Amino acid sequence: MEYNNLGKSGLQISRLSLGSWLTFGKQIGDDVAEKLMDIAYENGINFFDNAEIYARGQSEIVMGSILKKKNWSRDTYLVSSKVFFGTGGQLPTQKGLSRKHIMEGCNQALKRFQLDYLDLFLCHRPDKQTPIEETVWSMHQLVLQGKILYWGTSEWSAQEIMEAHMFAKHNHLIGPIVEQPEYNMFCRDKIEVEFSQMYKTVGLGTTVWSPLASGILSGKYNDSFPADTRLGMEGLDWLKDKNFTAERIEKVKKLTQLAKDLNLNLPVMSLAWCLKNPHVSTVILGASKEQQLVENLKAIEAKEMLTDEVMEKIDTILQNSPVKPAF
Ligand code: NDP
Repeated sequence: MEYNNLGKSGLQISRLSLGSWLTFGKQIGDDVAEKLMDIAYENGINFFDNAEIYARGQSEIVMGSILKKKNWSRDTYLVSSKVFFGTGGQLPTQKGLSRKHIMEGCNQALKRFQLDYLDLFLCHRPDKQTPIEETVWSMHQLVLQGKILYWGTSEWSAQEIMEAHMFAKHNHLIGPIVEQPEYNMFCRDKIEVEFSQMYKTVGLGTTVWSPLASGILSGKYNDSFPADTRLGMEGLDWLKDKNFTAERIEKVKKLTQLAKDLNLNLPVMSLAWCLKNPHVSTVILGASKEQQLVENLKAIEAKEMLTDEVMEKIDTILQNSPVKPAF
């Protein structure tokens, strides 16, 4: 495993990490979740990603009880949660980024996890109804209370993140260190263009999600629609519509051939492509089966195979290389 600083913070994070969206407490049994965490930890993954909304709190309960059972030393791993969506309650105070929901969301997450503190606490989406100042103050206070160590954002715009930074700086508060955006071969603009200045100016770290575009970039949907996969899950039509398009499948078929020429499996090449970007602090893996995780871990070594020439071939297939600012 390789490790790097999460942005300009001193926190050392593994370049691959493990997430629990749609899997823990939902698609997979707790025994499979435990095996996935075992494989991850034994292979040097030190970051486990979670959120209050995942399986409406159940994902944190499952992950927390596995951590308790394993009894791994608390200084060997990082755990996150994310606040914003709540756990399903529909009342206006049960979600968002007000001081009330941030404080209550954190306390409730800690209870579900059975942990004393979270390493990372992220604002899962921007909240247009709460002043950013209130959110920054609340996160700062949670750090001072020892309930979280670092905080950040997910799917915020560069402008919103900068606003949080400026407010924190002017008021000597602890600002965000990390953003969690989607990043994969089909979704590049935020990481490659929108945030490009912020790696230097505020030392933004990134924990990127859906590196396989929910499985499309594994190549398994190329010729048929396999049963028992994420995109066939009930209630996820929106995710299928987003990812399972004729245009994407055409490109994935070409990528599959390129990977074959390199003697790699497509999921491994797709993940290695994300790791090639030095502004990606960690690629959060999702897996519903042990074998997937074992395979995906090969991405660390495989990135050496992705030479400039290979990266150009990938760009030629994708035809979506963002126009980068000239600085
Ligand atoms: P991916 O895009 O990598 O999708 C993971 C899914 O793809 C697996 O659950 C599995 O689904 C399939 N898959 C994975 N590996 C393979 C393989 N080798 N061969 C075939 N199929 C494979 O990542 P996720 O979308 O799960 O995102 C990763 C993490 O990021 C999440 O767990 C979560 O922690 C975080 N996240 C954060 C978000 C945010 O808003 N901040 C949003 C979404 C995710 P199956 O077997 O069921 O087909």
